[in-house]
Amino acid sequence: MRPAEVLLSDLGITSPADIDVDAIARCVGAEVDYRTLVGCEAQIVGYRDRAVIYVERKASKTRRRFSVGHELGHWHHHRGQSFVCRPDDIGRPVDEASRNAERLADAYSADLLLPPYIIGPLIERLSPLNLHSIRELAGEFGASVTSTAIRTMRMTKEPVILVAHNLLGRKWQWPSLKAAGLRVRDDVDPRSSAISAIATNALTNERKEPASYWFDRRHVEQFDVRVQSMTTSEGESLSLIRITELGLIEIYG
Ligand SMILES: [Zn+2]
Repeated sequence: MRPAEVLLSDLGITSPADIDVDAIARCVGAEVDYRTLVGCEAQIVGYRDRAVIYVERKASKTRRRFSVGHELGHWHHHRGQSFVCRPDDIGRPVDEASRNAERLADAYSADLLLPPYIIGPLIERLSPLNLHSIRELAGEFGASVTSTAIRTMRMTKEPVILVAHNLLGRKWQWPSLKAAGLRVRDDVDPRSSAISAIATNALTNERKEPASYWFDRRHVEQFDVRVQSMTTSEGESLSLIRITELGLIEIYG
C-alpha cells in the first residue's frame, strides 16, 4: 500500500464517508485553518512535528479537500519544509511520469481521497463505466470528477481512455492499462463530443463516433468508439472514450 493508504488503514478507515480530512490531519499533527488567502490556494507551515495548513475558504468543497490532502502530501514527503501552493500547483494532471514535489503531493492527496483499497472494488463494479457513474463515485468520495476518472483509468480492466481538451487541442490523456498503446490525436475534431460538451457546457450522452475523430492513424475510420464528454470547472472538456471493437487495439495499440 502507498503511504496515504497506510495512514487510512492505520486509522481503521474502510468507507468513503469516514475520510474526514480535517480529522486525519489532526492525527498527523496538522491543524487545518480555512481562510482567505492572497496569491495562493493552500499552504503549510511546519515546525518540528506540528503544522498548520491554510486553505482558501472560498474554493469548492472538493477542491478544499484535495488541497488539504495535497498539503498533507508535502507534510509526509517533505517534512520540515514550508510550501505555498498556487492553483496551478494543485491537482493538475500533467502526465504519469512527472515526479516533482507538487506531483508527489497530488499523488498523495489522490491516494488519501480515493484510496485504491476502498475504491478498487467499487470501480470493478461500475457498470456501465461512463462519466455518469464516475461522477456518482466522485460525489461519494467528495473528490473531483477528474481525479476520480483518473483513478478509474488506473484501476479498471476495461479498454478506455480519458482525455482532456480545450478549444486548442488535447491537454492530456490517460489510457487504461488495456488501451495503453493508443494515443489520442493532438488536435480536437470539431465534430467530436468534446466540442459539443464545450459548446453546451453539459454532460453529453454517450454516442458512437468514428475512431478517426480521436485517432490519427491510417484506415482507423473502419472502427467506431463510444464517447461521452463533459466540461470541468477549469472550462476544459473531459471525454471518456470506450473501445468497443478490440481490433482497434490489436492493430494500433
Ligand atoms: Zn504544493
